[in-house]
Amino acid sequence: MSEPDARVIQLVMSLRGQGVSDRHVLAAIERTPRELFVPERFIDHAYENRPLPIDCGQTISQPLIVGLMTQLLKLDDRCKVLEIGTGSGYQAAILARLARRVYTIERYRTLAKEAEERFEMLRLTNITQRIGDGTKGWPEQAPFDRIIVTAGAPVRPDTLLEQLKPGGIAVIPVDNDKGTQTLVRYTRAEDDALQEEALMDVRFVPLVKGETKAL
Ligand code: SAH
Repeated sequence: MSEPDARVIQLVMSLRGQGVSDRHVLAAIERTPRELFVPERFIDHAYENRPLPIDCGQTISQPLIVGLMTQLLKLDDRCKVLEIGTGSGYQAAILARLARRVYTIERYRTLAKEAEERFEMLRLTNITQRIGDGTKGWPEQAPFDRIIVTAGAPVRPDTLLEQLKPGGIAVIPVDNDKGTQTLVRYTRAEDDALQEEALMDVRFVPLVKGETKAL
């Protein structure tokens, strides 16, 4: 395997300085070339710690947020994970390196297709994709050990939380009254009770309910 780019190492060090301490998460970020996930005109910015525009008016998340959200999920190689909002596929690729299987849903066909090509290029064979409305979750594959939503939910997405296993963890940005989202970690106890922790302010594109975009 080729040596990681010096820019990737610098990014990983900066994430570590900002609270991403899980070495497995840092290693997954180091092994995943973000430049493959950004539009060509932004390649020079691929290893900067900032979100970037992708097709269909969406964004690839800031690496720090990807690192922190992934760390909050406490993944291991037995986990079956559901992601809502495939987007570029970058977050899914990071999850795929740490979990057993990743199910990811995107409402734009264009984005899903582009992400699929990237997964093939990186030989990430443990990712299964679907085009559709992620607010419904993936009932045929439920329940999940972990759920991550990478778009801002207007309210607590109970349909998704119903698909979380006892002992499971979900990390979801939920709209707050400041016009941003609060990142919430939900933990389902073995007795099925749901614990809720509000963690930090984040800013995501909206989670849009209903009709799928064919384009
Ligand atoms: N995880 C992505 C972030 C993409 S931004 C990455 O690493 O690049 C959020 C994505 O959620 C967008 O692509 C948007 O189209 C998608 N999205 C929004 N509402 C959705 C819904 N109801 N179902 C599925 N995807 C949705």
